[in-house]
Amino acid sequence: MLGVTATKQDGFTTVVFSQKSSEPVPEPRAVSASRRTRLYRRGLDQALRTVAVLQTTLDLDQLIKLFSREVSAEVPHSSIQYQNESQEINIISGRAAKQIHTFELIVEDKAIGQITFSRGKPFSDREAAQLEYMLCSLVYPLRNALQYKRAFRASMTDPLTGIYNRSVMESALNRESGLALRHKTPLSLIILDIDNFKHINDTYGHQAGDELIIALSQTISKELRKTDMLARYGGDEFTILLSNTDRLGATTLANNLRKKIESTSYSVNDEELDITVSIGVSTSQDSDNTSNDLFLRADEALYQAKREGRNRVQTACD
Ligand code: GH3
Ligand code: MG
Repeated sequence: MLGVTATKQDGFTTVVFSQKSSEPVPEPRAVSASRRTRLYRRGLDQALRTVAVLQTTLDLDQLIKLFSREVSAEVPHSSIQYQNESQEINIISGRAAKQIHTFELIVEDKAIGQITFSRGKPFSDREAAQLEYMLCSLVYPLRNALQYKRAFRASMTDPLTGIYNRSVMESALNRESGLALRHKTPLSLIILDIDNFKHINDTYGHQAGDELIIALSQTISKELRKTDMLARYGGDEFTILLSNTDRLGATTLANNLRKKIESTSYSVNDEELDITVSIGVSTSQDSDNTSNDLFLRADEALYQAKREGRNRVQTACD
C-alpha cells in the first residue's frame, strides 16, 4: 500500500509517498455504508485505470499529458506543469491560469519534482485532496520515466566533458548524411585534435590533462551554433558536425576555432598554459557512397595538418 503524508499551505502541498502504510484516513461522517462502498469502488476503478494508462509510456511529456487527461474528468484544470530543477526538466501542457495548486513530490526520501495545476477558479479543499489521491498513480511511473531519461542521457554523453560521445556522433553522421543527400544540402565535418597533448599529460599529470580537455570543450561549445553538433570522439579528439554548412562556412569556423584556442590561456596547476590544435575539415560531395567517406576525408586532412607542422586548418579538396 502506498503511504501518503501531506503538509499543506494555501495552494501548495508537499506529498511524501512511501511503501509504508499512511495514517488511517478518517472516516467521513454522514455517508452511508453502501455509498461509502460505491465511492471506494469508483476511486479504486479509476486509480487502476489511471495506473494502467500511465504504465504505457516512459516518455515524460506524454506521461504528464496522459495524467492531466485522467485527472481532468475528476478535477477540471487548464494547465499542468511538471518541474524538476536537478534534471533541468520543465514540461507545460495547456494554458496557464491564475489559480494554482502545486504539489511537491517526495518518494522514499527523494524529491522528484513539482506538479502544478492551474485554472481560472480556485481549487477547493476537496479537489486538492482528490488531486493528491490521484498523484499516487503518477509517482512510480514518473520515477521510472526519470530514471529512463537519466540513463538515456548518460548513454549519449561523454562522462568527462558532458558533451556528446562518439556513438551519438556516429549515428548523427549517418542520419545527417542521408538527409543531406536527399535534400541536396551541404554537410560538413570538423575533426579537431590537440597538438602534443601527450607532452602536457607527461609534464602536468593526467588530472591536469583532463581539466584541459574539459576547458577546451567549453571554449569550442561557446563558438558554435545550436545546430552544430559537438562530440568528443575520444582522447584529445573532437568532432563537429555542421548540417547545412558548405566548405567555406566550415573552413571559416575551423579557422576561428583555431585562433580562439591559440589565444586562450588555460589555467592548469596554477600555471597559464597555451595550447594549439590541428583541424581537418571535409564537406559532403555527390560521389560519397557512405557517411564514412566524409569522416575519412576530414581525418586525412587532419593528419595532413599535423604533418605540415600542427596549429593549422586543412580542408579536404574534391
Ligand atoms: P599530436 O600533436 O600528434 O596529436 O600529438 P599528441 O601528443 O596529442 O598525440 P595523440 O593525439 O595521438 O595522443 C593523445 C594523448 O592523449 C594520448 C593519451 O595519453 C592522452 N589521452 C587520451 N585520453 C585521455 C584522457 O581522457 N585524459 C587525459 N588526460 N589524457 C588522455
Ligand atoms: Mg593530439
